Amino acid sequence: MAFMQPEVIRVRANDPEFLLVVSVARCDECHSEATEFNGLASGEGDLRCTACSPIEAGFYSRLQAPGYMDATDWTGPFRSAAEALRKCCEQYECDEDGNDLPEGD
Ligand SMILES: [Zn+2]
Repeated sequence: MAFMQPEVIRVRANDPEFLLVVSVARCDECHSEATEFNGLASGEGDLRCTACSPIEAGFYSRLQAPGYMDATDWTGPFRSAAEALRKCCEQYECDEDGNDLPEGD
């Protein structure tokens, strides 16, 4: 089994589960201070406030290591779970179980 495996989630618009609430921080896109950030668009050391990056409804995907915190940033939104999974496999050149694709395929 591959260490990192594709994970697909369904997100509602403004889903509070993916809202990143902090005391105060500066958005890396609009550079204004905010307390609410889009957890799906914010990577490591890279914050997007909900004003310039609202949490959009749809399917999102990433590679995630089961049982560990290791994961890539989310990509999305996509219209279907299948599309989200396909994009994840394309982006990281793996199959649906997270295994690397054979070279030169
Ligand atoms: Zn912003």
